[in-house]
Amino acid sequence: MVNIRPDEISSIIRKQIKDYSQKIKVVNVGTVLQVGDGIARIYGLDKVMAGELVEFEDRSIGIALNLESDNVGVVLMGDGSTIQEGSSVKATGKIAQIPVSDAYLGRVVNALAQPIDGKGQILASEFRLIESSAPGIISRRSVYEPMQTGLIAIDSMIPIGRGQRELIIGDRQTGKTAVATDTILNQKGQNVICVYVAIGQKASSVAQVVNTFEERGALEYTIVVAETANSPATLQYLAPYTGAALAEYSMYRKQHTLIIYDDLSKQAQAYRQMSLLLRRPPGREAYPGDVFYLHSRPLERAAKLSSQLGEGSMTALPIVETQAGDVSAYIPTNVIPITDGQIFLSADLFNAGIRPAINVGISVSRVGSAAQIKAMKQVAGKLKLELAQFAELEAFAQFASDLDKATQNQLARGQRLRELPKQSQSSPLAVEEQVATIYTGVNGYLDVLEVDQVKKFLVQLREYLMTNKPQFAEIVRSTKIFTEQAENILKETIKEHTELFLLQEEK
Ligand code: ATP
Ligand code: MG
Repeated sequence: MVNIRPDEISSIIRKQIKDYSQKIKVVNVGTVLQVGDGIARIYGLDKVMAGELVEFEDRSIGIALNLESDNVGVVLMGDGSTIQEGSSVKATGKIAQIPVSDAYLGRVVNALAQPIDGKGQILASEFRLIESSAPGIISRRSVYEPMQTGLIAIDSMIPIGRGQRELIIGDRQTGKTAVATDTILNQKGQNVICVYVAIGQKASSVAQVVNTFEERGALEYTIVVAETANSPATLQYLAPYTGAALAEYSMYRKQHTLIIYDDLSKQAQAYRQMSLLLRRPPGREAYPGDVFYLHSRPLERAAKLSSQLGEGSMTALPIVETQAGDVSAYIPTNVIPITDGQIFLSADLFNAGIRPAINVGISVSRVGSAAQIKAMKQVAGKLKLELAQFAELEAFAQFASDLDKATQNQLARGQRLRELPKQSQSSPLAVEEQVATIYTGVNGYLDVLEVDQVKKFLVQLREYLMTNKPQFAEIVRSTKIFTEQAENILKETIKEHTELFLLQEEK
């Protein structure tokens, strides 16, 4: 006879009921089918999310990008040399995120926000998803404050506002990086936090940029995110999102930020490499179909936030490289419509010695003029018009043999005006210096000089003005207007300096 003990049965039932609500942790585990070229195929990770981080047995990390019916395609963040076929893979339940904090200022980090400058750990208490959604329409307000680049050609004729996205586009070695880094140098003392994202560049080029920042005291308000040409494609692909997350952290804390993506062509190439290895169907120029989305995601995160959100801003200056000036290639045609304008750099101008080699005629800024200060507006309109007229006249004058006096004068003026926007690298100008320079040119004060004296004259004039007549800068800076008083001071300065300069040149 079986002896049934009721208290035993009831205790078992009670335990079952008690444990019924206990949480069970299901770990989503799969097996590596294949690994190589920075890609792994995993079997059995059924419940993984798109973009979720997965962890391999050797503790290396990957991102699940291709969710297919019988396997999951994962891109690896390392080289994957210690991952074995048949080993297990754990889904972490987390989308890629990075630590963020103010301690990142002055540091050089990789796409995972880990320091690579040898200056030790970076303390951070907060995390941000590297991909987060862009602020919506209600969270934004229109762009109205200037983001001064310090370059006359841009600030006067293609002005950029805080929160704008302005593309810098041009062939290789035309000074694209120089425009971007000069803009960062010019933010000194302007309370703008800068993020420079270097993608797929030579390590030596990045080191040079970091050096310049350090020498000019710009590193203290700048974060450099660098994935060089020998980094895995995955990390080059991630770097812009990491940079955007670091800038966003400050933007939502009511600060102005500036982010440079140098350059998005290389990021697109890294993404193409990943996509082809994942066997995604290639489209135009072998890029995958979603390459538009690749660039719209980080660029849409640039914004001018509403007053409720504290008025912070993120200005984005993406850089794209063209081949032989072809802006109708796939990547340029993708990025141009996402941005609020573009600055074209031309190899012809660069070689002709016009540096920065900005082609003002075909460059545009769709929202920035609302952000220009009044003093600049007062002088800049005339400069743009006169330069355009000069370009036309110059083309025409090539065919004419004898020109009348008026035309000759206009040509002479144009040649001198074309010298105005020329600036050496790493020498951005404050807005009051720019106003003084443009005023001098458009009012004919340069006509007494030879064309090749103009640049030198202007450099010395600005020096003279800033040291001997500080009231001028004071007025323009405080009122933002080119007042009559400021004009009188400037006229007097030009007169004094011209006499000195001509005397000095005669010797
Ligand atoms: P890459 O395609 O290699 O990225 P890039 O378009 O970014 O090149 P830079 O590296 O900025 O071009 O500049 C190319 C060269 O021109 C550099 O040697 C730089 O020092 C020089 N350069 C850039 N701007 C100026 C300038 N305003 N005046 C004189 N030289 C300049
Ligand atoms: Mg460059």
